[in-house]
Amino acid sequence: MSEAYASERVHVRAPGKLNLFFEVGGVQEDGYHDVASAYQAVSLYENVWASHSDDFTVTVSGAVDIDGVPADDRNLAVRAARLLAQRIGYRGGVHLDIVKSVPVAGGMGGGSADAAAALVACDALWRADLGTAELHKLAARLGADVPFALMGGTAVGTGRGDQLSPALAKGRFDWVVVPSEEGLSTPEVYAHLDTLRAQHDNGVDARVPEVDPAVLQALRAGDPVALAEHTRNDLQTAALSLRPGLRDVLEIGERAGALAGMVSGSGPTLAFLAGDPESALELQVMLSAAGLKALHVHGPVAGARVVA
Ligand code: ATP
Repeated sequence: MSEAYASERVHVRAPGKLNLFFEVGGVQEDGYHDVASAYQAVSLYENVWASHSDDFTVTVSGAVDIDGVPADDRNLAVRAARLLAQRIGYRGGVHLDIVKSVPVAGGMGGGSADAAAALVACDALWRADLGTAELHKLAARLGADVPFALMGGTAVGTGRGDQLSPALAKGRFDWVVVPSEEGLSTPEVYAHLDTLRAQHDNGVDARVPEVDPAVLQALRAGDPVALAEHTRNDLQTAALSLRPGLRDVLEIGERAGALAGMVSGSGPTLAFLAGDPESALELQVMLSAAGLKALHVHGPVAGARVVA
């Protein structure tokens, strides 16, 4: 290994996401649910550095509690690197250094962002040059949210959320996100939703889930007030039932002037929509004064990209 080769490092950052709209259809025969999601990539980033190695190794650190994150082959970023190596017949390995800012098991797709970042970083480090379409195919094999972390921006996802088409969004949307100390398992939230639906016998629509056109219109118009009126998250009831304390936080945010407050994906992170950057700052201050951790982010931002 030459010195230059050994010290070569590729830095990629990839965004966390919010689901502005999330409709969950009935459970399919394979146990998965069909969904319709409007995703927005927001300015809370995972940073991943990839360097040459004989094996596949990973270190994880960051500003968030990383207790639940495996630092071995179970890490989604390592799985992504291995999948890419297999795809291109690369015989070496990689060391991934992950610095996390997205709350773990928070419903903001942090693991998916790490996987997308690893694909982009290894593609560059190994000079594979696979191209967007190929990387997207690999991403879809890793998890429903990984293709969106590659793509970024604002998009509609159908199927399991991985069949993506970009959505037009004008201007910027300001959000305040409130992470929880302890994460929620996505499969557990889905299972709880199925239980609640069975208990209440509110048969899920037989039709294929679809993003409300009013959401897409609000995004195109850059209108946060209209967006606030039409946000929806079918996982919210289940997440709130598993974490009843979140209801109080939603109320605090709404009383503090948020246009809308919602559970992000499977939760427990909450996302509050503000009308503009100044209102978001005020909201952040008020939530912080109530003793909550509150982060001001904005979207849409780009997907996983090499940092020069
Ligand atoms: P999503 O919204 O995509 O369902 P999430 O944001 O709720 O996911 P993640 O932080 O992506 O949750 O992680 C969920 C679980 O995946 C973690 O609890 C952890 O066990 C596992 N995991 C594997 N690799 C990673 C990774 N690189 N970062 C975080 N978690 C990972």
